[in-house]
Amino acid sequence: MSEKTTREVHLISRPKGMPTAADFELAESRLAPLQDQQVLVRNLFLSVDPYMRGRMNDVKSYLPPFELNKAMEGGAVGEVVESRAEAFKEGDVVTSNYGWREQFIAMPKELHHVSREIQPLSVYLGALGLTGMTAWAGLKLVEVKAGDVIYLSGAAGAVGSVAGQLAKLQGCRVIGSAGSDEKVAFLRDECGYDAAFNYKDGTVAEHLKECAPEGIDVYFDNVGGESLEAALSSLRVHGRIIACGGISGYNEEKPKPGPSNLFNMTTKRLTMKGLLARDWMDQQAEFEKEAGAYFKGGKLKHKETVVNGIENAVTAFLGLFSGQNVGKMVVKLT
Ligand code: NAP
Repeated sequence: MSEKTTREVHLISRPKGMPTAADFELAESRLAPLQDQQVLVRNLFLSVDPYMRGRMNDVKSYLPPFELNKAMEGGAVGEVVESRAEAFKEGDVVTSNYGWREQFIAMPKELHHVSREIQPLSVYLGALGLTGMTAWAGLKLVEVKAGDVIYLSGAAGAVGSVAGQLAKLQGCRVIGSAGSDEKVAFLRDECGYDAAFNYKDGTVAEHLKECAPEGIDVYFDNVGGESLEAALSSLRVHGRIIACGGISGYNEEKPKPGPSNLFNMTTKRLTMKGLLARDWMDQQAEFEKEAGAYFKGGKLKHKETVVNGIENAVTAFLGLFSGQNVGKMVVKLT
């Protein structure tokens, strides 16, 4: 039997501040012969995600730091090439967390079956994948309901674009911010947002006053920093904050001080809840059923930015921090 090899992206040094291409290496490794109960998978799409930046630091968090000189872990969609496990057969499409590699060998419990009928298969990294589930779970976390005025930062990204569409489907008034006029048009014209603004043009506080003069009920925070501060001022009494992410601070070498107006939490009796999508895995089937029905019915759009080739995975990842993506950033393998 001929020996199989795979290319994979390794983290080779821990970035300080913004990562650079020099922190990564495209390496080649051998795959051992397939054993009983094992499955060989060829990846079709890789996910690059902002949370990966935190795992590049050598600090304990909800997930361990990435190991140096090992393949970057992360979400991927792939196709079974060979199986010695009963539950999988050649041609099955699966999601996994084996990350930035062309091929890998896994045990059945590490793979999740998805349907080939839904296309593009990269949707399982976006609207019907973990980022979509993050959006879905975030709205449930603070019991978003019809009539709520909700503001989302990072609105044109993977989580934001799905969360805004789901909030709209639930009968909310939806306001979003993003970093370019093209993204603002995408929010209004394709995602059905009631209002959207470019946060690089003026201050977030001014835009929010204009879009929601009476204030907001819910803030879906993907960004932190200035957006969080503006939302704290705009939130009404008993308003809620979904603390999903804080990408504006991920590359800061020294964390910036928190919002200067945090006392709004007290005066307005606000609630801020931390969200971790992985806490919701026991509801994955319910999410897939609900979001899958919206997607098939044309009510939920999956927007993505596709970068080709594993050799460009790092460029795709770095692009998240300069807003190169509209919707989910994915890497397509050929
Ligand atoms: P994404 O929004 O698709 O991509 C990142 C986007 O962030 C960029 O396109 C860029 O858009 C924006 N951005 C980058 N730097 C920024 C800055 N300094 N200030 C404001 N915006 C900036 O990524 P995603 O996967 O959907 O993740 C969105 C957030 O959710 C991240 O904070 C992520 O860590 C978090 N998240 C949390 C969970 C969880 O379980 N809690 C799960 C998934 C993701 P612009 O052009 O608009 O600037």
